Amino acid sequence: MSLFSAVALAPRDPILGLSEQFAADTNPNKVNLGVGVYFDENGKLPLLDAVRKAEAALQANPKPRGYLPIDGLGSYDQNVKELVFGKTSEPVTSGRVVTVQALGGTGGLKVGADFLKQLLPDSKVLISNPSWENHRAIFTQAGFEVGTYTYYDAARRAIDFEGLKADLERAEQGTIVILHACCHNPTGYDLTPAQWDEIIAIVKARQLTPFLDMAYQGFSQGLAEDGAVVGKFVAAGLTFLVSTSFSKSFSLYGERVGALSVLTQDKQEAARVLSQLKVKVRTNYSNPPTHGAAVVSHVLADAELRALWEEELGEMRTRIKAMRQKLVDGLKAAGVSQDVSYITTQVGMFSYSGLTKEEMVRLREEFGVYGTDSGRICVAALNSNNVDYVAQAIAKVM
Ligand code: PMP
Repeated sequence: MSLFSAVALAPRDPILGLSEQFAADTNPNKVNLGVGVYFDENGKLPLLDAVRKAEAALQANPKPRGYLPIDGLGSYDQNVKELVFGKTSEPVTSGRVVTVQALGGTGGLKVGADFLKQLLPDSKVLISNPSWENHRAIFTQAGFEVGTYTYYDAARRAIDFEGLKADLERAEQGTIVILHACCHNPTGYDLTPAQWDEIIAIVKARQLTPFLDMAYQGFSQGLAEDGAVVGKFVAAGLTFLVSTSFSKSFSLYGERVGALSVLTQDKQEAARVLSQLKVKVRTNYSNPPTHGAAVVSHVLADAELRALWEEELGEMRTRIKAMRQKLVDGLKAAGVSQDVSYITTQVGMFSYSGLTKEEMVRLREEFGVYGTDSGRICVAALNSNNVDYVAQAIAKVM
């Protein structure tokens, strides 16, 4: 009898489990469209020039690796705050927003979840239906009951906006609502600016607690355009949380660079909130790592590197859009007569293909094309060499 004999086997993470299956597949044509990672035209994970140059600059002046403050590298926190809210914005200049470095976007969500559990122990959490599955897991592990709000209407291949509004209208005061700021994962359908205004009005009237997840800033229309939704929440006079991830936008997945920002009412409140966020960080991992934050901070603060990064981010965005179009063209060339224009309507790294679980399994087993069982494929992993093969495979299972 072992201490651990009662431990049940946890289900495999659906997406990382898919990558393991992919690695073991011997099909020479295999394509991994499961995990949300951007690959370049050569099918390689890019190391951005802006990152390379920032690393060279840091290396030229090497620093010892002491502990960072609990809330992370000060210059990083400041630069991220300015990116998310705007350098000259009122929240930044008045000092009522606090930003703490976090271990990726996931870390930002987790620190925020732990903080909210203490503040609003009886509140429920609502995530979109469907959502990034880790949203449910993170908030459940933090002790919350997690429900969903209506989002995607599969029959119409669109957002069920009336359903979404009705669910938020019904939510109890204080309910924590996780909102994808842009590039909705997994569907690729975002609210229009006018729809955001309506959602914000409901959030305000119902006194809900908004938590924006910004994991893909810059992948839809551009950094400023995608960030505009944060400005809308500010303009509405709301206080809220935002998690940021640089995993994709800097191609720094393994460095775990992200942040949590909390917009409070005033500077004094900000100081109290920051002190509580620091307790959450301190008791989880004490303080964050140095390298990724130093790189991102260097790029954000240096005019030349920042321009280079924005250019490289723009190239990633443009290439994904081109791949969406190539996939549509390839499907048509392969004889698909159904309307597949939704592929180019959707934004961000994913396409919700509408394929059934059985079709996704066939794609995997017969063609070595890996997407999630929900029908989500990562279009950011397509390139000129694999897109036609993927299109033909999809056409055969459709
Ligand atoms: N939120 C969403 C919606 C995501 O898709 C992801 C990444 N897959 C994250 C947060 C987490 O990002 P990170 O890898 O930086 O933790």
